[in-house]
Amino acid sequence: MFVLSCPASRAFVWKQSLYRLWKTYRCVAPFHNRKYLSFTTRCELDNIALLYSDKFQLHRPPNGRKHPECPERVATAIQHLQNSPIFSKLHMLPFEQLDDAWLTQKVLSVHSSGYLEDLERWIRQGASILDSDTYLCEHSLEVGRLAVKAWITATKYSFEYSKPSFVLARPPGHHATAYTGMGFCIFSNLAIAAKYAMEELGVTRVGILDWDVHHGNGTASCFQKDQRVRFVSLHQFPFYPMTGAPEERGPLGNLLNITFPSGAKGSEFIHRLCNEAIPFLTQHQPEIVFVSAGYDALNADPLGGLCLETEDYYEMTRAVMSSFGHKRIVFGLEGGYHVEETAKAIEKTLQGILEG
Ligand SMILES: [Zn+2]
Repeated sequence: MFVLSCPASRAFVWKQSLYRLWKTYRCVAPFHNRKYLSFTTRCELDNIALLYSDKFQLHRPPNGRKHPECPERVATAIQHLQNSPIFSKLHMLPFEQLDDAWLTQKVLSVHSSGYLEDLERWIRQGASILDSDTYLCEHSLEVGRLAVKAWITATKYSFEYSKPSFVLARPPGHHATAYTGMGFCIFSNLAIAAKYAMEELGVTRVGILDWDVHHGNGTASCFQKDQRVRFVSLHQFPFYPMTGAPEERGPLGNLLNITFPSGAKGSEFIHRLCNEAIPFLTQHQPEIVFVSAGYDALNADPLGGLCLETEDYYEMTRAVMSSFGHKRIVFGLEGGYHVEETAKAIEKTLQGILEG
């Protein structure tokens, strides 16, 4: 159904595929205003679900300013994937029609109503910054909510069918706390999806792996008092946001920080992923696993100081895929600011998912 043999017809076939997917693999909630999702028929379950919308490019720095968290990150990635042989193994899950009132409730499961009200007011008034790192534009709220829709839909899909999914969304989310966005992040996308899994899918044990070069402080703060969740972050330290020291285990001991000095290479990163991070999660026997898949630990990244190569993400992904005895694993884009290398590393991740 999604084998794109002729490159010239890819865009057309892609649209047709989406339409057929829409008909055969229905999310009931968006269309019928129900409070939960219900996938009614199975389709394309041997492929990887990819969640992407061109609307993710609408969140952009005001006044044409340059910023590392730019629309080109996902634009280049999707273009790279469309020109890759792996594209025929992807199927696009629709997610944009999720009910907006329902989605607001999901956002409020993690974020305070005060923050959401402030955000709406700031954007209405034309604010251009959320904090010193994080810009806003007139589309930021819409795009932020769309990213949450994508994460939630991927969660539902991966949990119901024990199939992996990849959320190619922006802005990233793992720095956003309950009370504020920060570090390029507006909503804590992964945390909202994990809450949804526990509150609406009946999940009792969640594993979260964060391999972004920065500590996932927002995600950690959401779950540091939640015994149902284990969170492990591999990151450069000391580094932004200056949290995530190894001794920070949270009051319940369900957090683990694995830190690297500037200059650390992929081999060391993979070694500690396999021997410390993954075992910490597997001991918890998570029913679903989320991966904050940042690509700013790449050697080429202009912000991070680690030295991973694109091939390392293939190895890391294969390790993750083979570790949990199920494929209920949701990967989602966080950082990664060298747009071309990030696109290649995303492709490597998808290859690892396929072969893992
Ligand atoms: Zn990052």
